[in-house]
This record gives sequence, C-alpha cells and structure tokens, in this order.
Amino acid sequence: MPEVQSIAIVGGTHGNELTGIQLVRHLQNFPITYYDDIVLSFILANAEAIAANVRFIDVDLNRQFHLDNLKSSNSMLYELNLAKILNQKIGPKQAPLTDLVIDIHNTTSAMGPTLIVLEDSDFYREMARYLKQHMPEANILLEDEVPYQEHPYLCTVGKRGIMLEIGAQPQGVSRADIFAQCQNMLQIILAYVDLYNKQAIPTSQPVDTYRFGEVVLFPMDEEDQIIGLVHPNLLDGDFKPVAVGEPIFAMFDGSELLLQGDKTIYPHFVNEAAYKQSNVAFSTADKFEW
Ligand SMILES: [Zn+2]
Repeated sequence: MPEVQSIAIVGGTHGNELTGIQLVRHLQNFPITYYDDIVLSFILANAEAIAANVRFIDVDLNRQFHLDNLKSSNSMLYELNLAKILNQKIGPKQAPLTDLVIDIHNTTSAMGPTLIVLEDSDFYREMARYLKQHMPEANILLEDEVPYQEHPYLCTVGKRGIMLEIGAQPQGVSRADIFAQCQNMLQIILAYVDLYNKQAIPTSQPVDTYRFGEVVLFPMDEEDQIIGLVHPNLLDGDFKPVAVGEPIFAMFDGSELLLQGDKTIYPHFVNEAAYKQSNVAFSTADKFEW
C-alpha cells in the first residue's frame, strides 16, 4: 500500500481567499483521477465564511486546531465547533485517517507561490526540492519553531500537512495568474507524492529555504496608535533581504526605524491585511540551504 494514499485538498479555510475555493470547486466539478493509488478528497472548509466573503465568522478557523481546542466541550463560537467537525472528517489529529492535507490560502503580501512546510523531514525536504526544480519561482517557507502537532493550523489534522500560500491577491478578489500558479503548484506536489510512493524521487539538489523567525509589530505610541508604516524598501516583493542598519519602518514624523540585531532578515507576510488587527507588520525569516 502506498505511504501517502489519501489526500485532502482544502479551500476556503479563510472565506475571502478565493483561489482555493474556486480551484476546489473546479476540481469537484471536473474530477480527475490523477494517480491510480491516490484517493483525493475536496473540502470547502468554512462554508459560512465563504458565503459571507469574510475571513471568518467568529474566530480564525486556521488557529483552532490545537489538541486542547479539539478536545474542549461545545462552544458558542462557530469556527471552534467547525474545527471539531473537520477534525472528525479529515483527522482526527491524534490518529489521522488522511495521509496528507493540502490547505490552499491567499495572502495580500507579494509572497509569490509559497509552500509552507511545518516539519523538517525527508518527505518535506524532497517535496521542496522537487517543487523548486519544476517551479523555480516558488518560495519555500519552513515554520518548524514548534513540533508539527503543536501548530494550530487546519492542515495538521492530517498525518502530514502543508499550506499553499499564494499572493499578492486582495481579499475577495480572484486573479487568473494566481489561480494558474496555484493549479500548477498543486499538480507538481501531487506528481511528487506519486514519485514518493513509488520510491522514485529523482536525485535532488539543496534549495534556498526560508525559516520563520518572529513577527514584528508596527511601531505604536502609548495609546496603541500606529506611528509608522512598513518601509517602502520592503514592499512589493517579500523575502527580499534586509541587512542590519537598513530601514524597516518609515515613521510619520519623517524618520526611519532601522533593523537592529545581528543578522539579515527576509521579511514576508509584509502588510498582510488579515494581520492588521493584531498590529503585525511582517514576519522575519532566516535563509538556508535545505
Ligand atoms: Zn488564509
């Protein structure tokens, strides 16, 4: 039996990120048997949020998949209960029936087609290498600051889980170029899984990979009002290096805030609209060969 037999392809975890929603609907209407040994299922995760064209109804669905949350009693919050339903359908997280969950997202940041991986293992490293080989413009983002199971993301209810994060695309908007990138990325990943199952992955070369560091908040005054914006040097092209001493914020008073510390950073999720509420300006990453 192949190691990765069941794959769930998920769209609409965030209801205003349209690429995944439209791609999943397309694939539901035109089912394709990609590979004989792989069973695909298609899921639109947050139907209410999709109908309302909003990220979520009560709370962010993609932060509700902590084991503690999934074990807690019923809640008044729509997404908390929805997480439990999806956990039963795709997971459960402690003993997943689904071998791989591919959760499709859009970002308003100019991150291009980005593969987000949550664990450093052969399966994911070879996936990253295979993807870069067939789609050189793809970015690889490794978020392994906590163990896989401790992440709150929907995709972690699968035995393995990844996110496709593609932008820049405004919320509630759908761009043909982003759709095409997403479709292409998904096909390459499915091709990789097939090769992995057959133990036929071609020889690979290390690829540039970004490893999540921390989130950086906007500069604020004592009344929690923003007093500066992300510096123009960081805009319109995430993952561009910023060296120590270079500006990261353009302050309203005309001054600049410079990068402190001792290492170059690779900002991403720059100005992400969904993170405005929590005052997150961008995330940092290190770059390494994986
Ligand atoms: Zn999203």
